[in-house]
Amino acid sequence: MPTSFATLNLPEAQLANLDNLGYQKMTAIQAEALPHALQGADLIAQAKTGSGKTAVFAITLLAKLDPQNFAAQALVLCPTRELSTQVANEIRRLARYQPNIKVVTLTGGQPLAPQAVSLEHGAHVLVGTPGRINDHLGKRTLDLTRIHTLVLDEADRMLEMGFMEDIARIISTTPPRRQTLLFSATYPDDIKALSKQFQRSPVQVKAETLHQANAINQQSFICNKSERLPALETLLAHFQPRSAVIFCNMKVGVREVAEHLKQRGFSVKALHGEMEQRDRDEVFVQFKHQSFNFLIATDVAARGLDIEDLPCVINYELPHDPDIYIHRVGRTGRAGKEGLALNLLTDAERHKLADIGIAQKTELDFEVISAISGATLTPRPAPNVTLSIAAGRKEKVRPGDILGALTGEGGINGKAVGKIDVLDYAAYVAVERSVAKQALACLQNGKIKGRKFKAIALA
Ligand code: AMP
Repeated sequence: MPTSFATLNLPEAQLANLDNLGYQKMTAIQAEALPHALQGADLIAQAKTGSGKTAVFAITLLAKLDPQNFAAQALVLCPTRELSTQVANEIRRLARYQPNIKVVTLTGGQPLAPQAVSLEHGAHVLVGTPGRINDHLGKRTLDLTRIHTLVLDEADRMLEMGFMEDIARIISTTPPRRQTLLFSATYPDDIKALSKQFQRSPVQVKAETLHQANAINQQSFICNKSERLPALETLLAHFQPRSAVIFCNMKVGVREVAEHLKQRGFSVKALHGEMEQRDRDEVFVQFKHQSFNFLIATDVAARGLDIEDLPCVINYELPHDPDIYIHRVGRTGRAGKEGLALNLLTDAERHKLADIGIAQKTELDFEVISAISGATLTPRPAPNVTLSIAAGRKEKVRPGDILGALTGEGGINGKAVGKIDVLDYAAYVAVERSVAKQALACLQNGKIKGRKFKAIALA
């Protein structure tokens, strides 16, 4: 199968953009799906996070956009806010080859009115959660009658979360002659029914995740039930990952692990479902910025978390379901890099490891934790600090404005400035820990776009 993007019928400018983004070859799902999707076929694609699925629908919908027409032409439905934000960002990256494409996210946890204002100004692509999009339809602040591409992303999760009715109502307001692209990690009966109801002769494609299981080095260790916390420290001391997501099955575990590691001086944060959306966004951003080293989370809380360069995933406890395991460890070993997955289990949980091995068609062996004990570790601070600025997309702030404020008058070396994330109402910039104070002072005293904005360093 040809794997060069050049084999597709795409504008030269898009090919150059893909090259700039470092997308040299198509991933398996892209090679299978894009030729059909670009011809306008409906698609049912079985693909998980990490497969490159977002680019499949992003490239397809962008190829059909009329930038002169400010009606909403493409709609992407996602199960969560986090995924919506990520998808919108990926679409924006892939849209860079043509000027002035507007991508708007419509998700809960934010007031409706400013979203309605964004919509009034015109948006080509809408990305959001079914509940919030339905709210806008109810208030007549959204018109979907010009949608030519409809995407259902992580459709299985949306159904699990009870969005079926919302989805049906939304689709009923879109034109019947549209291209419908359905993405789902699993293919149970309710997904088949969804496809039957809303798609026309869909082409079915399936691909394994982008990074084969063998790019992830999986190692498992048996410990006594009462020794999980010291066993976790043993793993950290022996493997010395600079950063990791540590998964627990339940919230109590998250709290326990976070407290313990914090007391030992590790740079950690917990993520759990009860946190306010804004706090969760900030934890995600800080983790991506490498502003703390270890993220402790449950599966639900970590939903939508997508880190390009995560060296390690630790299963403090093995999940009951092998699919969840694969989803967890699939977050490392991305983009051709090697990933490390470390598992802790008790003797009584060996059957879980066996099931996980069966699901991957390999036998996963294990050692006792004492086999690697002995190493010591002095916890290190995270390399960066995240500064938060109370100005976002609504204030038309762009990453370049912030970089300019820091490196211009601020006199900070550009090399010390890392990722910059502009969200709707706030912007976040990663700076090296050694210059954090100076950078903060410069943001607090200087101006961005001619205005003063509040800035703080996130703890
Ligand atoms: P996704 O499965 O859509 O969440 O994508 C996983 C990651 O792979 C994202 O960080 C994408 O930016 C990246 N990606 C997608 N397609 C390619 C490609 N053809 N080459 C390299 N990276 C890619």
